[in-house]
Amino acid sequence: MIKIKDIVKKYDGKTVLDNISTEFPEGKTTVIVGPSGSGKSTLLRSLDLLVHPDSGIISFPNFSLNYADKITSKQSKELRAQTSMVFQNWNLFPNLRVIDNITAAPIHVHKVPKKEAIAQANELLKRVGLEKYANFYPDELSGGMQQRISICRALAVKPKYILLDEPTSALDPELETQVLEMLEELAQQGQSMVMITHNIEFAKLSADKMLFIENGEKIFDGSKDEFFNNPSSRIKEFLDAIS
Ligand code: ATP
Ligand code: MG
Repeated sequence: MIKIKDIVKKYDGKTVLDNISTEFPEGKTTVIVGPSGSGKSTLLRSLDLLVHPDSGIISFPNFSLNYADKITSKQSKELRAQTSMVFQNWNLFPNLRVIDNITAAPIHVHKVPKKEAIAQANELLKRVGLEKYANFYPDELSGGMQQRISICRALAVKPKYILLDEPTSALDPELETQVLEMLEELAQQGQSMVMITHNIEFAKLSADKMLFIENGEKIFDGSKDEFFNNPSSRIKEFLDAIS
């Protein structure tokens, strides 16, 4: 479980996250939704220290940190061992083959022996049905495949949680489906995930928990069933606008 308490983030005096507290349960999929500019990416990035909130606390079962303190490199390493981010535009290394993209962090950052890292990467590729592409370069693959590879790359460092910021918004619908099917399967396998998406169908199918953020404030924090079956007037308005 990741717990956050009273996270505040300001840019130039403007409050972007306003005292957000919540939990991200382990083995579950949490989906974050909300209007553009509401603070979703800022919140997700706070979980990986890509953004440093001004105050608040983040805690894991055996470790916590106060964002108001100076964060040591040991603490940020410890935090990043728990979470791994997948970006909208995948950002694979173009000059590295698929297998080397996936093994780069395990070998060079986590000091996993090369042979073991390659075996694990092949295992991951197999799990998502892409094993025959191990020796391809990224630009030889479709955007959907590249995004699936980048999800493998995030999983390769064995984080507790993968964090996904609109992982399908740069893809055509057909390729989007491939990526969402992979994520649905990971969700079923009990992979802990926190994902920002505008794809409400995915949320309906795979979310365990929904968070709705607006103007940096948490408006809804609860089950998928409540979110979709018994929405407040504001959530109903949001759902009508995007569907
Ligand atoms: P979208 O759906 O468009 O991705 P979002 O909900 O992810 O939006 P954020 O990217 O978290 O929203 O941004 C929240 C607010 O913080 C916005 O007003 C944005 O302009 C502002 N903001 C984000 N990053 C910075 C930054 N580095 N410097 C200044 N302002 C920022
Ligand atoms: Mg965003």
